Amino acid sequence: MVGAVGWTIFSQSKADKGRILNTGSAVREFDAGSRVIVDPNLKCGICEFCRKGKSHCKNWTAIGIFLDGGFTRFVQAPQKALHPIRNDVPLKEAVWGEILSCVLGSTERIRIQPSEVAVVIGAGPAGMMHAMLFDAPGAEVVLADTSNVNRQTGVR
Ligand SMILES: [Zn+2]
Repeated sequence: MVGAVGWTIFSQSKADKGRILNTGSAVREFDAGSRVIVDPNLKCGICEFCRKGKSHCKNWTAIGIFLDGGFTRFVQAPQKALHPIRNDVPLKEAVWGEILSCVLGSTERIRIQPSEVAVVIGAGPAGMMHAMLFDAPGAEVVLADTSNVNRQTGVR
């Protein structure tokens, strides 16, 4: 996919992390220098699930799993996977965008009410976001994790 017309290359190096370095000729929404975060889940857009707007693409692939991702110096991503970030949003906050979108997506059908109990298994970053999301409306949150460190962090 190197040099593909609809793809971009953005940097993971410390100096210009999250900035697009180069764009394919069909990329219209972003220019070199744009700051972006990436949705690493790439859907084909043509399978029966994609055509119905469902999320379980038959040809799904992911940046960081099947394609080079977060631990590489440069990442290639299609334009459709990128989301612009404003210049006033610190990168250390913007990087949470992808995982937060997963958390919000996983809870969009849940309308937790005050006094309900939410059990969150796993107190890593996604678990902590779930706990905060359930805590905000006043639910009682039970946070379970096998890691002492994660449990201690979750108590704070
Ligand atoms: Zn598909």
